[in-house]
Amino acid sequence: MNTENSRVNLLDLDEAGLRSFFESIGEKPFRSQQVLKWVYHHGVTDIAAMTDLGIALRKKLDTIAEIKMPQIIREQRSDDGTVKWLIGFQGGNAVETVFIPETRRGTLCVSSQVGCALNCTFCSTGAQGFARNLTTGEIIGQVWLAARALGHERNGLRRITNIVMMGMGEPLLNFDAVVPAMSLMRNDLGFGFAAKRVTLSTAGLVPGIYRLRESLDVALAVSLHSPIDEVRVELVPLNRKYPIAELMQACRDYVSEKHKRTVTFEYTLIDGVNDHPEHARKLVKLLRTVPSKLNLIPFNPFPGTKYRCSSAERIAQFQEIVMRGGLIATVRKTRGEDIDAACGQLVGKVQDRTKRSERIKLRMAETSP
Ligand code: SAH
Repeated sequence: MNTENSRVNLLDLDEAGLRSFFESIGEKPFRSQQVLKWVYHHGVTDIAAMTDLGIALRKKLDTIAEIKMPQIIREQRSDDGTVKWLIGFQGGNAVETVFIPETRRGTLCVSSQVGCALNCTFCSTGAQGFARNLTTGEIIGQVWLAARALGHERNGLRRITNIVMMGMGEPLLNFDAVVPAMSLMRNDLGFGFAAKRVTLSTAGLVPGIYRLRESLDVALAVSLHSPIDEVRVELVPLNRKYPIAELMQACRDYVSEKHKRTVTFEYTLIDGVNDHPEHARKLVKLLRTVPSKLNLIPFNPFPGTKYRCSSAERIAQFQEIVMRGGLIATVRKTRGEDIDAACGQLVGKVQDRTKRSERIKLRMAETSP
């Protein structure tokens, strides 16, 4: 007998997964294409309404499968058009998903984990600790829900033009769920985004970068934040395990042959920590060795942080040095500030299992006057 929990959530399967699923229940693998079109082209999640599946198959599916979408708990719209959703999952956890409209494009920022296990010192998601990985369905569900809430149409008005895995979590630490979800973003039977419009952002998990290269063609972004190992270790402790030289080699390998593109490097500018002109010059030397673009992000403060944002002059000076050095560098505009939707400000509802959030709260209480 099938209980509610033992049903297969079809949202957890990409095309390859759905094909094996249908084969495993003695059905034709092309059923996968019909299901994908219903869910991602027509926005239909009720199996009973998938009329080309035949009544017998629909009945059978009803006992062994389901399409379980996450829930929008709250929607906030910023004065600048940015939209932020709190999206809830079974078991009480929730993450945030953000839509950032610009003149010619609209970027959806998607989360991969509830919280994050990496402890980057300047990121508020890290400070909340880590609860669990999201499933494929919970990741692609964020895109499905945002597309529907925005009135995104496949062949008409495309509100979402780009997807970035830059929300909560480290996507390469949830590889097995993230890759099928990104394959659904890419697949023409899914959301049908071009490879350059779907970006995975990582704090620098070197083996994951190589694995991704073998798995799926998507754009790569790397959170660098410093060209100097001693400084980067402070900000991204993962750098102890995968220092800059190794990370750069992985980036070069990622864009060679197969993925003939550039790597986007993210660099959060923090006052007095990584914004010195000397850092900018070192960064030029480092990034000259990789086909790259540089995205400078003014640090967004959050409660309890010891860091401050670099001054506007310092940011301008930094950008000037790297551009004179030949890098393509943009300064990311802070968006959705009035609804706390900026980089490193996403919080969600994390049932922290690492106790990290408690330690931080204690420290805050000790240091406050
Ligand atoms: N774990 C992945 C995905 C998260 S991306 C990664 O590290 O790339 C989130 C981006 O926002 C990263 O580049 C991160 O370094 C940056 N960020 C985090 N906290 C920030 C803050 N407080 N201000 C500005 N940028 C921040």
